[in-house]
Amino acid sequence: MINKIAVIGTGYVGLVTGAVLADLGLDVTCVDNNSEKISGLKEGIVPIYEPGLELIVERNICAKRLVFTTDLKNALSECDVIMIAVGTPPTVDGSADLQFIEAAVREIGRHMDGYKVIVNKSTVPIGTAQKIKGWILEELSHRGVSYDFDILANPEFLREGSAIDDFLHPDRVIIGSQTTRAVDIIKQVYRVLFLDESQYVVTDMETAEMIKYASNAFLAMKVTFMNEIAHLCEKVGANVQDVANGMGKDGRIGPEFLHPGPGYGGSCFPKDTRAIAEVGKQMEAPLTLIEQTIKANENQKILMARKISDEMGDLQDKQLAVLGLSFKPNTDDMREAPSITILNELAKKGAKFKIYDPIAYKEAKWRLEHLNDRIVYCNDEYETMKDSDALIIITEWKQFRNLNIEKVKSLLKKPLFFDLRNLYQKRYMEDKGLKYVGVGQGTEYQPFLVETS
Ligand code: NAD
Repeated sequence: MINKIAVIGTGYVGLVTGAVLADLGLDVTCVDNNSEKISGLKEGIVPIYEPGLELIVERNICAKRLVFTTDLKNALSECDVIMIAVGTPPTVDGSADLQFIEAAVREIGRHMDGYKVIVNKSTVPIGTAQKIKGWILEELSHRGVSYDFDILANPEFLREGSAIDDFLHPDRVIIGSQTTRAVDIIKQVYRVLFLDESQYVVTDMETAEMIKYASNAFLAMKVTFMNEIAHLCEKVGANVQDVANGMGKDGRIGPEFLHPGPGYGGSCFPKDTRAIAEVGKQMEAPLTLIEQTIKANENQKILMARKISDEMGDLQDKQLAVLGLSFKPNTDDMREAPSITILNELAKKGAKFKIYDPIAYKEAKWRLEHLNDRIVYCNDEYETMKDSDALIIITEWKQFRNLNIEKVKSLLKKPLFFDLRNLYQKRYMEDKGLKYVGVGQGTEYQPFLVETS
């Protein structure tokens, strides 16, 4: 049985992985080279917002199953299994920047003192597991020592906002390996998840790395497809919500990721689509659908800003009430959030903003620093609307689903409502006396067919 593991990187993936495994009874050492983060975590201060995470961290610090350190060397001496969950951000050409992985791996190589299983959970280009092996071998050879080790490609599929549940109940666990010994060891670690054997996909390392990129690229493409269909719906007078409903009932298509919106964002889809497209180019196997997806998604964000300015005309000194900044609900993550592009575009035309997001202000205040003189951060939804010329919903936080429409109307200078997440239906809002602009709601929603005699 494996009782003790180390996790390198205490971000959205590493901290959730470490905390949840500790909660399931393992002893976990979480390592990060950001000493400020580690000092905070030692006190139970969780630097990211992930529902439920703070309690789990606190509980397991108290139980002494979860410890935090900047000292990888010490952690290595106590653990045979080391999980890597450091960032792999995009470089200027879009390819994945492996410097954090390389630094972590070389440090392992510099300090390992016996057999180790190095499990890579970060999203990396195909071939990275082999590079990891090479870096370790180089470090061992510099030291003039030789230790046995295995590398596993074990990409993570958790989603921010539901990361704990996703980690506990994965659809599948992908394991890319060159040895059965390492596969057996990682299965011992994941034993606590009580998975069915059929949930494992055991393959080679390159295939495991490819599965992660192909999955994210496919989902990005699916949502982008619906964004384009939504645009066409507006032109031809169709309703995209009914289109999605009708399509989603086809088992070959499925209902998920058929909801149009302001474009995908976050720390995964944008960078992973660019990275896999770059791999395709380098290997002379271009992924033209993904290349188009990337362009269409950039366009979607601009299109949303244009939708607003087309409707409102001159935006000079207009005040816009904005609900939601994070790239999706239940997270503070604003990496590549559509809100950033949309606000930038509207600001270029002279708009000012009163904004409310339940959680993302810390992130917003530095990511939108250049717009600070144009932004007022508010304490709730309704404060944003007072004396604003229009309301824009950018992120579908649950609490925005049931706004008091009479209050919205009385606070706004004009009853103009841009709903970039289709939280409301056009007919309902128009009946309430609002000018409503959704995404792909080309016709009034008709809950009942009109009787004809
Ligand atoms: P993150 O940026 O939130 O966290 C990364 C952490 O690694 C940071 O705390 C950083 O300080 C630390 N770090 C960097 N270099 C280090 C080193 N040499 N030693 C120790 N710590 C180091 O990243 P994330 O969102 O958790 O993503 C991590 C990886 O998982 C990425 O490859 C990402 O694509 C992938 N992934 C992310 C998600 C997600 O929803 N965020 C989901 C699946 C997969």
